[in-house]
Amino acid sequence: MKTMQDKYYREIDYARISITDYCNLSCRYCKSEADAILEKQVSQKQLFNLIDVLDELKFRKIRFTGGEPLLNDWIVSLVEYTNNKEHIKDIGLTTNAVLLDKYLDALIKAGLKRINISLDTLDDNKYYEITKTNYLQRVKDNIALAVASELIVKVNVVLLKGVNDNEIVNFLEFGRLNNVQIRFIELMPIGENDDFIKDKQLNIRDKFKNYQSREKKPNCKDVSDYYIDEYGYCFGIISPISNHFCERCNRIRFTSDGKLRLCLHSDNELDIYEYLNKKEELKALILNYIKEKPEKHYLNENMKANKGMSKIGG
Ligand code: SAM
Repeated sequence: MKTMQDKYYREIDYARISITDYCNLSCRYCKSEADAILEKQVSQKQLFNLIDVLDELKFRKIRFTGGEPLLNDWIVSLVEYTNNKEHIKDIGLTTNAVLLDKYLDALIKAGLKRINISLDTLDDNKYYEITKTNYLQRVKDNIALAVASELIVKVNVVLLKGVNDNEIVNFLEFGRLNNVQIRFIELMPIGENDDFIKDKQLNIRDKFKNYQSREKKPNCKDVSDYYIDEYGYCFGIISPISNHFCERCNRIRFTSDGKLRLCLHSDNELDIYEYLNKKEELKALILNYIKEKPEKHYLNENMKANKGMSKIGG
């Protein structure tokens, strides 16, 4: 069997798996007061079954996320299990890095290849303002640990108008000095925090007009556009709204309560919870449902998803 294709001939070979909807930060744009804890939680065995099926479907890349994936003790065994599969070659993790020191060595030994660390400010007061916690120094220390390891490390910064959009130069310096790639991400309208998000949204491309852009290789699957600063430091921007990349979207998502979601920005989901114990049926369901993957998101037509990122898996 070849890699799966959807009806727009996109190869679907990348799955993001949320392993918990709990998070130890309370980022204003991500978590909402109205967010109830999900009713169900898939078990470790169900996740192993899912990984078996994704491998049989020739998925190439798996990224574990959440909520905060390091709040789930299964993370190391999940990475190890995935690493022993035949087709899945690339295993990533998205984390706020608060607990990274506790897991880093074990994750690398288990086969983790890459890690995306979310950090929106380098300023203590703003870190508190955004996350309602005081973990900034711990996160910086953990970024340094990750950079010193063999992992591919990226730091993702969501730009928020009037909050951290004056920190671009500081982040570029941080990236340069710490030898880590920074990627600036456009704030997306998603979840329940409409008013906050509307107020903080900006067209990220306007912010980088004065930087030199770097050519991409043809057929590159990477969703970032790359720019170079005056020191030759290369950084990425991800602009799902002002320059969407739906035609290159190769991913699907699994939520921690057992739903399959084909597009971040569409609340259409397939409940696969009970099939996570029946691998053959699960495989058939995924194969069939892939055909429903929307051609693109409709954010620019004011259609957004109501489920927040912490519940979907970022
Ligand atoms: N807890 C982990 C972390 O912080 O990386 C993983 C989950 S978190 C939902 C994943 C990413 O989604 C974070 O980088 C967060 O900034 C991003 N995110 C959440 N809501 C977003 C939004 N409305 N627009 C853009 N990015 C968002």
